[in-house]
Amino acid sequence: MRLHFAAELILELVTRKLSVEKIGAHIAETKARIDFIFDQHISTIFEDILVEYNDIIAKDAPIKTDYFDVENQRRYWEIEGFSEVPCGGTHVKSTGEVGRIILKRINIGGSKERIEIKLVDENAAL
Ligand SMILES: [Zn+2]
Repeated sequence: MRLHFAAELILELVTRKLSVEKIGAHIAETKARIDFIFDQHISTIFEDILVEYNDIIAKDAPIKTDYFDVENQRRYWEIEGFSEVPCGGTHVKSTGEVGRIILKRINIGGSKERIEIKLVDENAAL
């Protein structure tokens, strides 16, 4: 749940900064990855987005979830003043629960860039 939310937050922050196309994502037990079409090193924005990420985490803002389409059971999460993101998954209750993360760039070739996300406090991942 923590890693899932960290990945969603990072995706949101990346797509605000760059016009990149997300081509895939995967959340495993200890790390998450998001792949983009981008012909430069995506790590150039890591410092900026980690500052924003850590700000959001430090605020321990509540994460609200609700339906945007009750009939079709489609849900979203929201951090007030930040973003609304459609997702039917299960989410932590506040940003402070997620904790700090480490980002790593992996060049997967062909103008594709991968961001790998790990929780700093891995033992508490579940
Ligand atoms: Zn989600």
